[in-house]
Amino acid sequence: MSDDGDVDSHFLGTERGAEAYRDALGRATEAAIDATDTDDPFSGIKPEAIREALPDDVLPESGIGLDAAIDEVAEDVLADSVNVSHPRTAAHLHCPPMVPGLAAEALVSATNQSLDSYDQSGAATVVEERLVETLGGLFDLGDETDGVVTSGGTQSNFQALLLARDRYCLEHFDHDVQRDGLPPEAGDLRVVCSADAHFTAEQSAHHLGLGHDAVVTVETDDEHRMDAEKLDATLERLEEAGEHVFAVVGTAGTTDFGAIDPLDALADRAAAHDAWFHVDAAFGGALALTDDADRLAGVERADSVSVDFHKLFFQPISCGALLVADRADFGYAARNDDYLNPADSALPNLVWKSTQTTRRFDALKPYLTFRALGREGVADVVETVLTTANRVATLLDSAPDFALLAEPSLNTVVFRYEPAELDDAELDALNTAAREALVRDGRAVIARTEVDGVEALKLTLMNPLTTLDDVAETLDALRDVAEDVDVGTLTA
Ligand SMILES: *Cc1c(COP(=O)(O)O)cnc(C)c1O
Repeated sequence: MSDDGDVDSHFLGTERGAEAYRDALGRATEAAIDATDTDDPFSGIKPEAIREALPDDVLPESGIGLDAAIDEVAEDVLADSVNVSHPRTAAHLHCPPMVPGLAAEALVSATNQSLDSYDQSGAATVVEERLVETLGGLFDLGDETDGVVTSGGTQSNFQALLLARDRYCLEHFDHDVQRDGLPPEAGDLRVVCSADAHFTAEQSAHHLGLGHDAVVTVETDDEHRMDAEKLDATLERLEEAGEHVFAVVGTAGTTDFGAIDPLDALADRAAAHDAWFHVDAAFGGALALTDDADRLAGVERADSVSVDFHKLFFQPISCGALLVADRADFGYAARNDDYLNPADSALPNLVWKSTQTTRRFDALKPYLTFRALGREGVADVVETVLTTANRVATLLDSAPDFALLAEPSLNTVVFRYEPAELDDAELDALNTAAREALVRDGRAVIARTEVDGVEALKLTLMNPLTTLDDVAETLDALRDVAEDVDVGTLTA
């Protein structure tokens, strides 16, 4: 191949560059196909062995050439990566990326548009505008809706709470946080969410200078949804104590149980207390595409919504969005800079809506997928994994040595291995040890969590190609590694 060190073979825009790109992508494509066609989801390798296997010299004086470097990465890196496209990978909200998204990813990286300004992106800016507008429509957020593509739920939740805080401070204390920093009342600012909400609510409060204790959690009901009556009691208590609730956060799909808070009831409370209503739909937002969209009822009353495309929209990482109902709210974090987006520019320079500056054209991934598959096509995939989760729950419920700990709400199934007459402490120890052994074994990749203080196991069924037989194999692998666990020593 042409990799002789000549600069023109390293860049697109010349014939030699085009040829090198074709060759390299061809080779990389084959390597990716091999890496996603493995017997087991993970090699089980320990980090020390990977440290040992990687070349000592990341930056050698002279390189080994592109072909050799790709082959080396295939062998040293891809072969010991977690195969997210394997049917027995079922741990986290970590999807097998779908082919339209992968094709888009190739276009995104090769054309390398940056969404901060129109003069770095052209059509990409307009595509992102259209995508967020479409999503706003999907959630019925109204005529003034707008949004911005983010790196995922973390960034979306952070920005939502930033906007919420700053709007509240301006409206209630006549205080401009963007200019003057936190107001004297900052110590009394509160965010309310459920006890099962994602940790990024607390992380955001920390990053916003409020401290994570500014997040007040409300107990959930038997199905892990926020209890609206307990929310009333919490809001009343905070108000009596002179604290300021600037945001109520509803979760549409909690990480462990996929629980969806009663969004309509939360919207009522947020409105009554003049608080921003944010819906974290990073996980469950994809329901809006399906026949079960009504499970999100109340989301249309949100001030902002977080959506993750790299979860149930099956797009390659990273890809999320923050939507707002009123585009003017982005103004609380907007900046104008002379070189990038002068205030008098007539062009759409999206940097004003984002917490990032240089920003990938990730919008193309869902855009291309939506165009290629249509709503029905994507909804089919979502519905397939939801159905799989229900079947897996039935399977676990009927297995004598497993206990189903909750009926699935989305595509997570939480359960426990309970093989014999062991006490709770012994079962905890067995479940922990068996899962760890399974990570080292590599035959299946599953997650753990805690339910009401007991150690539990979790399957997040992200792969529409996972069958009940695959899950049965996962359970067999778990039984198998659990046999070698000596519960006596663990609990002694
Ligand atoms: C995944 C998730 C997040 C975090 O999003 P990232 O995309 O990992 O940054 C936040 N909230 C919920 C409910 C999630 O499922």
